[in-house]
Amino acid sequence: MVNTIEEKEIHMTSNTKTAVPYYKPVGKEIAIFKHSHNSKIPFLLKGPTGTGKSRFIEYMAHELDQPLITVSCHEETSSTDLIGRYIIKGAETVWMDGPLTMAVKTGAILYLDEIAEARPDVIVAIHSLTDHRRELFIDKLGKIIKAHPDFMLVASFNPGYQRGFKELKPSTRQRFVAVSFNYPEAKIETDILVNETNILEADAKKLVNIANKIRNLTELGLTETVSTRLLVDAAKLIRSGLPKRLTVHVAVVEPLTDDVEVVSALNDLCDLMI
Ligand code: ADP
Repeated sequence: MVNTIEEKEIHMTSNTKTAVPYYKPVGKEIAIFKHSHNSKIPFLLKGPTGTGKSRFIEYMAHELDQPLITVSCHEETSSTDLIGRYIIKGAETVWMDGPLTMAVKTGAILYLDEIAEARPDVIVAIHSLTDHRRELFIDKLGKIIKAHPDFMLVASFNPGYQRGFKELKPSTRQRFVAVSFNYPEAKIETDILVNETNILEADAKKLVNIANKIRNLTELGLTETVSTRLLVDAAKLIRSGLPKRLTVHVAVVEPLTDDVEVVSALNDLCDLMI
């Protein structure tokens, strides 16, 4: 069976007519990205899931008026998926560029989401694009392609989640400018919830307080704690009329853990705060 990358794993946007994605800056990330882009240096976003990494890249692509190609990497993602492959069309075999080759040729931003999940040959494939050469070697065609001047490689990586078993090697990391993303401070996170969902500010504040309380309970040993994404979803449910306590139970607590005792303790805690 031919292993092909599924379309749902690749997402392309061209920004000419789309609305500006809402992004609330949390630090100097916008300036750093612009300078990396000008200097043609690859960009690495580090941080837990749901902290605005993808939204930031969508925003930057729009700001810079560049097409964005996003690939959600997983353990099966290979260099062939990114570079391209021969496919059979009728009686012919034709070459089809993968998302990386397309981005290199057209000058798009290529965003490899969760790069450490991908197979090791992906890292090998991008090496010559991440240094002064800025070229892609397509072994199946025996061709070297020089990257378009606007091409930019961006990757994300979740250090906590991948701890121990899927690390990015120093030789790879040191090819990127790296910026850490984390849960924003309370005022900023409240603004995000209000902007994204139109929830009342008082309710948004309560959700953020609950999140920060749970985030500080490190003794629970949760693999991932409450993300801004979870809070946005909870805020949407409250806006749509689901009772607040129930919302917090199903949209904040339950997604975090399957440990019945922890769920029950967190539900009790949240009931006092919402
Ligand atoms: P990640 O890529 O880090 O997993 P996302 O970019 O998908 O996370 O963010 C999840 C959701 O959180 C977004 O859809 C958005 O609603 C919200 N969000 C998080 N941070 C921000 C931010 N700084 N500005 C605007 N929205 C944000």
